Amino acid sequence: MGVGLEVTTQDGIETPGPCPCSGCGASVPGGEAGWPLESGPLAVLLGPDVQPGEQPSWVDHSYRILRASVWNYYAEPYDLGERAFRDFLKLARAGFHVTVSPSQARHFPGRTVCIEIVGPESAEASRG
Ligand SMILES: [Zn+2]
Repeated sequence: MGVGLEVTTQDGIETPGPCPCSGCGASVPGGEAGWPLESGPLAVLLGPDVQPGEQPSWVDHSYRILRASVWNYYAEPYDLGERAFRDFLKLARAGFHVTVSPSQARHFPGRTVCIEIVGPESAEASRG
């Protein structure tokens, strides 16, 4: 059983908790708005010469949560397209575990879908 942080929205859809994305700004233990460019999924997707603002459109309402010394990356877009699926494949081939989960949505449950990405370097960090 995880830490209980159940929230029910106006629509009566349960969420795993409030949303720490930059737009919502909720305080979540271990949570941080946005993704870094120099590590994690964006470093793999965009390479070393990336400029701020170049992130893919599906990386919307992004945040990450540190759990047991492991960064779990989240994005909650309203739509997923060809670019997103190509990126998921690229991340999977790089050793990331990508999960698409409507029930984990925090930003706008029922409208946004939660993309959870746990990376290979996170797995390294969790070993110690
Ligand atoms: Zn949000």
